[in-house]
Amino acid sequence: MAENTDRSVCPATVQLLGKAQQEGVSTAFFRADQVKPCPIGADGSCCRNCAMGPCRVLLPRGKSDLEVEVTGVCGATTDTISARNFLRMIAAGAAAHSDHGRAVAETLIAAAKGEAPGYSVKDEYKLMKLALDFGIEVGDRPIEDIAVDVGRAALAQFSQQEGELAFIKKAPLKRQEIWHKLGVVPRGIDREVVEALHRTHMGVDQDAESLLMHGMRVALADGWGGSMIGTELQDVLFGTPQPILGQVNPGVLKPDHVNVIVHGHEPLLSEMMVMAAEDPEMLALARAKGAQGINVAGICCTANEILMRHGIPIAGNFLQQELAIVTGVVDAMVVDVQCIMQSLPKVAQCYHTRIITTSNRAHIPGATHIEFHEHDALNAARAIVRAAIEAFPHRTGRVEVPAHQVDFVAGFSHETIDYLLGGMFRASYRPLNDNIINGRIRGVAGVVGCNNPRVEHDAVHVAMVKELIKNDVLVLQTGCSAIACAKAGLLTPEAAGQHAGGGLAEVCETVGLPPVIHMGSCVDNSRILMAATAMVKEGGLGDDISDLPAAGAAPEWMSEKAISIGQYFVASGVFTVFGVTWPTTGSEKFTRMLFEGLEEKVKARWAYEPDPIKAARCMIEHIDARRKALGIDKARERVLYDMAMRRELEAL
Ligand code: SF4
Ligand code: SF4
Repeated sequence: MAENTDRSVCPATVQLLGKAQQEGVSTAFFRADQVKPCPIGADGSCCRNCAMGPCRVLLPRGKSDLEVEVTGVCGATTDTISARNFLRMIAAGAAAHSDHGRAVAETLIAAAKGEAPGYSVKDEYKLMKLALDFGIEVGDRPIEDIAVDVGRAALAQFSQQEGELAFIKKAPLKRQEIWHKLGVVPRGIDREVVEALHRTHMGVDQDAESLLMHGMRVALADGWGGSMIGTELQDVLFGTPQPILGQVNPGVLKPDHVNVIVHGHEPLLSEMMVMAAEDPEMLALARAKGAQGINVAGICCTANEILMRHGIPIAGNFLQQELAIVTGVVDAMVVDVQCIMQSLPKVAQCYHTRIITTSNRAHIPGATHIEFHEHDALNAARAIVRAAIEAFPHRTGRVEVPAHQVDFVAGFSHETIDYLLGGMFRASYRPLNDNIINGRIRGVAGVVGCNNPRVEHDAVHVAMVKELIKNDVLVLQTGCSAIACAKAGLLTPEAAGQHAGGGLAEVCETVGLPPVIHMGSCVDNSRILMAATAMVKEGGLGDDISDLPAAGAAPEWMSEKAISIGQYFVASGVFTVFGVTWPTTGSEKFTRMLFEGLEEKVKARWAYEPDPIKAARCMIEHIDARRKALGIDKARERVLYDMAMRRELEAL
């Protein structure tokens, strides 16, 4: 069995794992030792799509499906089964992000109609931009009417049966041409997800390539559809993020305060939680129970969302959700949807913590359900805060809050990067492009995704990102990956001088930017697509996202959402590397399609490399190849001129 110091590079996590062990609390780290991954499922070779199976399509040892054909009862081959499983992962991931986007659209409509007290339009400018994207008349109509129309137009994107998703037009023209040629432009978000389930039903689509093409269409419906709707409308409702100072790690929990953790993905409720925790009536109640105040902190992507807009601290990323409770000071953990471990109520039983579910889509046995509806959100938030206050005097067991707490800067939307680089009157990506062209910045990498207890917690993210910035690659981050690197101190402007290569450090120091940029939660990967598009449109770096010296990675991924994100990165032209494990290795044929064949179709491909340094080098190699193709590779050979060389130059 592994030592706790080998399980995580995060000292607070190691400390709390020790406490959990002493107190006999089971966590995902220990369960990962006991539950070994199924080798057949891990390589994508198991089909359970009908009752003639499940079929385990195992190849003879040492043979690949290029040499031997093995099939399930219906005759489905290994590549078909792998492709079906892969498409189902994309569909599930896209469905999760898109359902989130739909909930935000519904809330915007309710808010604009005055049916959701507490919510309002915070970013009118973005609302207007969206109205133009959807072809909605603006004129001098009241803002509420425009907001209702934008919300309805967004909702219509889900059920649209033909035509094209509206945000597809935001992509570079050349990219749109590729999608049109391949016939993968999504028609409607729900339609593509449903078709994925239909195609992968027993006896329907039996061609791996055709399944993969639909996988691209579903993933694009996520990245340029559901996720982008989620991001854009959240900005309208809650404000477009601005750079903000935050703190991260369980050290943000306060032993003398009522601590409420918001965990999950949709910021609809957590925005109200922030308001409820500041309510004088709630604060008086907390003081009456002996607490100094009410402290709200976040876990996972909800944390990223409320940090970016309110500076609410982050208690940890995905693998720290159980450990936050182990501190003994979490009075309530409120969860909505996605990435919530079913073990939470069991862990909470060892302490006094109340686990509160809030979405009618996500119930957990053993948790208290306080359902959240946007028309009565503030009252639901108050009920939750009250439950936390009532739990406070019942704290049991030993309290131990690790002293680790790290400062970092978050809240970079693609619009903020524009502004920071160009200034208010000439907001532009020009300085970024210029610095890439002159070689100070070698390229850009999006490093995103989850934690996975099959690898050392946070270690892979941190090692990869350090290697990238050391080599002058500017890193854009979201999700639990951003939290991992924030904990390692990489998300501050000072980190540039300490960890970045000379060129990147020089640029960061000039504009006051960290070398690693926090762009939000998982749905906000759409911001990375927009940033890449802005770089293309600025000019000088080719005319498509695939021309950019850029790469993507999810080195500790675990969720189906990550596969959907990876596929829309690739379909958008970004070379993308995943770590931990790869879900199609049972079929060499299908894996080759992903790792090689896609290059010909979309000028980008997938790769798998679990070693973070090797993976970073693959990304850098790709970036250098793109620099060469653009003819800007010479700019990186920066020569330090001595006096004699200068005189020679001047004499010319
Ligand atoms: S669909 Fe075919 S391969 Fe899959 S379980 Fe049924 S018989 Fe087996
Ligand atoms: S990065 Fe992964 S684990 Fe973290 S919140 Fe997003 S999907 Fe969940």
